[in-house]
Amino acid sequence: MIIAVLAVQGDFAEHKKMLEKLGVSCVELRKKEDLFQEYDGIILPGGESTVQGKLLRELDMFDSLRLQIEDGLPVLATCAGLILLADNIENDDRRYFKTLPVTVKRNAYGRQLGSFHVENEFKGIGVIPMTFIRAPYIKSVGNGVEILAKEKEHIVAVRYMNQLAMSFHPELDEDERVHKYFMEMVQEYNKTSKSL
Ligand code: GLN
Repeated sequence: MIIAVLAVQGDFAEHKKMLEKLGVSCVELRKKEDLFQEYDGIILPGGESTVQGKLLRELDMFDSLRLQIEDGLPVLATCAGLILLADNIENDDRRYFKTLPVTVKRNAYGRQLGSFHVENEFKGIGVIPMTFIRAPYIKSVGNGVEILAKEKEHIVAVRYMNQLAMSFHPELDEDERVHKYFMEMVQEYNKTSKSL
């Protein structure tokens, strides 16, 4: 199994470290040609969605990456990555891939509560640590979107077909279970796509 980590901006190095810990091979996506390597899943890291979106367009990576996601390649998106996937952004006019039918609010916890750490239940995994950094939350979800975690009344993790997206940063904690959950999605995808 090979996982591609988008590495144009943000905390991609932390995702790579997590993959190494799990013994999973990874490649970096830094330029257009990198999108034509062999890989079985993609990680969209946290960072700054506006910068990532702009770079993806400047580097001419945007459309190919969107097509891969639309085609069903498993994606794990954290924080800014969630914003890139979202259909709608409540407090921003910019839109990116629009492959995930949710409305998000950027920097939703305000300046005061810019960063915080909590533990909450994640459906199918159990209680996990959650680190939020100038995080968005999910205001509403469309048909077929499964809610996996909440922080107080707000939705902070969802799954929609091949897309697993969350407001917080599992790559910044020691707990490996979210990445393992994603690996299972990738294995499942490999089984079904190879049996077709
Ligand atoms: N605030 C950032 C954005 O809007 C996301 C923060 C993060 O990824 N930690 O893109």
